[in-house]
Amino acid sequence: MKVTIGHLYPDLFNLYGDSGNVQCLKQRLVWRDMEAEVCPLCAGEEIDFGKLDIVVWGGGADKGQALAVEYLERIGPEFRDYVEDGGVVLAVCGAFQLLGNYYQAGEERIKGLGILDIHTERCDERLVGNVVLESPLVATPVVGFENHAGRTIIGDCTPLGKVLYGRGNTGDGGYEGVVYRNVIGTYLHGPLLPKNPEVCDWLLERALARRYGEGVKLTELSDEAELRANRNMVERLSAGRKGR
Ligand code: GLN
Repeated sequence: MKVTIGHLYPDLFNLYGDSGNVQCLKQRLVWRDMEAEVCPLCAGEEIDFGKLDIVVWGGGADKGQALAVEYLERIGPEFRDYVEDGGVVLAVCGAFQLLGNYYQAGEERIKGLGILDIHTERCDERLVGNVVLESPLVATPVVGFENHAGRTIIGDCTPLGKVLYGRGNTGDGGYEGVVYRNVIGTYLHGPLLPKNPEVCDWLLERALARRYGEGVKLTELSDEAELRANRNMVERLSAGRKGR
């Protein structure tokens, strides 16, 4: 069994080690004797969404986001069809914002893909620091690191989780990210997936089910070190000591 991972615009979007999410997806397949192919999809390249099982799109600064608009316009219709067909996507921070309708960065309105019915407004205060979420997708708390000036209004969309520590989509709304079909949009860098193996496996399971049917089960991995690191962060933050 093979999973094809498209790494979208690694040349414009790769803040805070977000490409580690691609490595994590790949490694967790390899550990299970499954095949993983990673396709870097640089700005301007033709993209065959039909061959992709997972799209990973990392965070990006305002400048990179503005540069991406012309390329996004070209791939928009096919990207939208991929999502509506159950295609799996992980979009972090700047990418999460661009899955929405727009990102208002001061005077400049950066047009998004409109795949998620959300929008983002930039504010002066950046929201920076560690985050812990409680998410209905997974049993373990989700940990990560946020650094964004944008405030994302998600309307009726389903959040990824409830903020237990940190700021989240709007800084004070109590929720973080969005889940839509097989798409996770989130502000959490880290990179997210090595810190939260259950989230990684949620994405892999969705991708395998879409390609090979619901019967495919992922074998369990020990995840002892990952879960210890996760627990350590949750305990550190809940004890009120600010994590670095
Ligand atoms: N430029 C966006 C913001 O500051 C996204 C930043 C990021 O991807 N970390 O809100």
